[in-house]
Amino acid sequence: MKHESDHFKSALIVNDGVPQPPSVNPDSTAHFRTIRRKRPTVNELVEGILAGNRTLLSQAITLVESNLPEHESMAQEVIEKCLPYSGKSIRIGITGVPGAGKSTFIEALGMLLIRSGKKLGVLAVDPSSEISKGSILGDKTRMEELSAHENSFIRPSPSAGSLGGVARKTRETIVLCEAAGFDILFIETVGVGQSETAVHSMVDFFLLLMLAGAGDELQGIKRGIMEMADAIAITKADGSNELKASQARVQYQNALTLFPTAESQWKPQVLTCSALHNTGISEVWNLIEEYQSFTSANGFFAKRRRSQATYWMYETINESLKNHFFRDAGIKSQLEHYEHLVLSDQMSSFIAAHRLLHDYFKKHHIKE
Ligand code: GDP
Repeated sequence: MKHESDHFKSALIVNDGVPQPPSVNPDSTAHFRTIRRKRPTVNELVEGILAGNRTLLSQAITLVESNLPEHESMAQEVIEKCLPYSGKSIRIGITGVPGAGKSTFIEALGMLLIRSGKKLGVLAVDPSSEISKGSILGDKTRMEELSAHENSFIRPSPSAGSLGGVARKTRETIVLCEAAGFDILFIETVGVGQSETAVHSMVDFFLLLMLAGAGDELQGIKRGIMEMADAIAITKADGSNELKASQARVQYQNALTLFPTAESQWKPQVLTCSALHNTGISEVWNLIEEYQSFTSANGFFAKRRRSQATYWMYETINESLKNHFFRDAGIKSQLEHYEHLVLSDQMSSFIAAHRLLHDYFKKHHIKE
């Protein structure tokens, strides 16, 4: 078919018979035509996802990430239909402070897995990404080889909203990626805040990446995060850093023995690796597989998933109730006033909260 812009004639040129170049790049008009095309239906999205179509998978994830009510309900339908096909991957949480080497590690381990025939999805939970414009995974050049590979799918963190919202969206994206046939999922997060707890509640295995000799405070690593880890990998164990890394390994391994035995009965291990030199990377993977067979045999693997499912049910209830309250126009208009009363000591926090809640319940005919 002839391109529309082929018919375009510039008013300044009268030289009939000479084909004119299109005024608009034909590639870009083709691009816009695809964008303008009718949005796929729920069934088209589900069929596309199940067939492993990444464009439709991406579109479905965009719906999951949207805050528009009509998108939310459509996304829920897609998730519901994908749910029976999900659950078959191993979900691995990867955390560490910025600079710990997460991207480089994910690229190295990811390529190793892909070369062995696996399909890998990489997601992120970064509640700060609205401000930092995606400090993790935002810049895909950081995982150049992996992001270009047809058997990997990299999706940066959903950027809007609270940690609870961002995490829930990633949790739902896991379902879609699994239905699309990705058998290994990495969920990356920065080890500086609450986000590791959220990621820990959606993965089967939690890996903490640490730098040797940076000091615990410097790395923002709290005892709680170490306690959550199923393994610690000391990164950048190469060159002059190699000795420091193996010393750190012993130190952390000793520190871990002080923690009580986890419910899984698994004893977390500390390894060293270098993503740059590709050493120690396959050992990390072997350990993850060992964990999977160990916890599958003792029933903990399935138990962890079941308790996570209920956790996310409660989380979703909490988040939805909170959103409903704070999106209420009446509440929105009064918040500032009450905040002022509390800040200027004219009203206690509790009374202010109760008044607002009372108004909200009354408006929605809810008996207190
Ligand atoms: P992230 O912020 O945790 O994702 O860390 P990056 O993967 O971006 O790595 C931070 C810096 O450490 C980069 O300059 C990397 O080149 C470097 N780096 C990462 N892995 C290694 C490694 O195994 N050895 C060495 N020597 N440097 C590394």
